[in-house]
Amino acid sequence: MSEAIRPGFRIVILGGGTAGWMAANLLAARWPQADISVVEATDIGIIGVGEGSTPQLKAFFDGLGVAETDWMPACNATYKNGISFHGWSDRPGHSSYFHPFPAPIDVHTSPAFFFHSHYRRHGYDLNADPDRFFLSAWLARHGKAPIPAENFPFEMAYGYHFDAYRVGAFLRDHARTLGVGHIEARIAAAVLAETGDIAALKADDGREIAGDFFIDSSGFRSALLQETLKVKFRSFADNLFNDAAIVMPTPPDPARTNSHTRATAMKHGWAWDIPLTNRSGNGYVYASRYVTADEAETELRAHLGLLDSDVEARRLTMRVGRVEAPWRRNCLAVGLSQGFIEPLEATALHLVQATVEGFMTAFEKGGATNAEERAFNAEINARFEGVRDYIVCHYRANLRGDTAYWRDNAANDALSDSLRRILACWFSRGDMKREIADQGVAKYYSLTSWLCLLGGYGNYPRADGLAPPPPELRRFEMAKIDDFIRRCAYNFRDHKSVLAAMTAG
Ligand SMILES: Cc1cc2nc3c(=O)[nH]c(=O)nc-3n(C[C@H](O)[C@H](O)[C@H](O)COP(=O)(O)OP(=O)(O)OC[C@H]3O[C@@H](n4cnc5c(N)ncnc54)[C@H](O)[C@@H]3O)c2cc1C
Repeated sequence: MSEAIRPGFRIVILGGGTAGWMAANLLAARWPQADISVVEATDIGIIGVGEGSTPQLKAFFDGLGVAETDWMPACNATYKNGISFHGWSDRPGHSSYFHPFPAPIDVHTSPAFFFHSHYRRHGYDLNADPDRFFLSAWLARHGKAPIPAENFPFEMAYGYHFDAYRVGAFLRDHARTLGVGHIEARIAAAVLAETGDIAALKADDGREIAGDFFIDSSGFRSALLQETLKVKFRSFADNLFNDAAIVMPTPPDPARTNSHTRATAMKHGWAWDIPLTNRSGNGYVYASRYVTADEAETELRAHLGLLDSDVEARRLTMRVGRVEAPWRRNCLAVGLSQGFIEPLEATALHLVQATVEGFMTAFEKGGATNAEERAFNAEINARFEGVRDYIVCHYRANLRGDTAYWRDNAANDALSDSLRRILACWFSRGDMKREIADQGVAKYYSLTSWLCLLGGYGNYPRADGLAPPPPELRRFEMAKIDDFIRRCAYNFRDHKSVLAAMTAG
């Protein structure tokens, strides 16, 4: 128990979406002496999307001591080996690729992948297709769960798919067991102390909810950090064009056993397909300056084979960017109120967790001192930008060109210095391993991720006229890699049967 937090220290969380309840659980588990409450207006409701995660969510539940058998069936959750990308490149042989989560077992195959990827860029005919080098790509292709037999000596890295409403409810109930209070109120304003700190939240029925520290998880509105404390928002619109989404869940297809997310390029954005146990989550993330909502909905319906169906579609707008500082005075913004980097790669909840954990560590070190606040804000901002750059690369490196949307993305030069250098290194056949290490960006996305993306698209400096590799470059045999992965795969069961066994208890 940290002594930096005095008993009864009042933390008020505005917002009962996934971010608010995740924050409540993390804070209550680490600071049990604090007096924590979540305030939410159920009539405003939550955004109710956000159904895919990174492996960080496993660490979140493990840290709370909540077993998969407890939360997954309650949230209609499935396993996620990674993401398969379809149609982001027109280059022959590159219509799709799989992006795995880096796992310990990759140590056996990634040296070959790195080597082939490097010399493929130098124009040698070596196989650098990411789908061939990673066990999780095989598991996804064959509908397996990433849970190995007991005697398998490696842990896999995996994320989840889940129903956002159910996860919210599950986390609310769990937070209550940790002593978190729940107040239903619609907040009309914040009351400021003379110092400029927030003293209380004022509900529209006149109630005042006082606190020592406030978490703003009020969603895109950012009622405390941006509206009250006037912290500025930095838009990413110049390099991430998407600003809207159509959401359209469909009944599950019993024939499908997907243990991964599918991200399919559309005319003006991309569509997600997220398998839950009770339905499929579908949506189209698009840029409203290229297509109207009606046209986007029609395109999504056609993509899903639902042109004549009356399945309801929900339309959302997104504000893509980040606040200048997530922690200002006695307020921390967590979740959409803090920023959002569009849903590709499903990083939002990962950032929620990193933000709350980083904040707690900073606060324990120095309380609300300026130095800790500054260092924390710089670290989170760098994380947002590191993640953003990898997402931007999906668009910048696309090889489609069928619409103005894709052509403009490919031509867009509003890139960070970091991304500019990574792309320059790739196209000049430089040492990507050293570039990623020198920049210190592997903590956001690893070398594997960058090589999967650029190689997965087939966006090589030299696309044809490949030379046969000389003997010294024939260090790795693809047949051996295939065999290794196939033999590892014997240790994994079908996704469906693993989920069914979990539900059966
Ligand atoms: C199209 C789309 C797809 C996404 N996909 C993913 C994904 O795959 N993976 C991922 O990690 N993330 C994804 N996200 C992001 C994810 O949805 C959010 O990060 C997550 O749901 C957390 O939202 P939140 O809790 O910050 O906000 P919200 O869910 O909007 O919650 C806001 C809360 O604040 C309350 N509130 C607001 N104003 C007041 C007030 N005045 N008084 C009282 N209460 C108030 C509301 O009632 C609500 O409880 C996606 C987002 C979008 C838009």
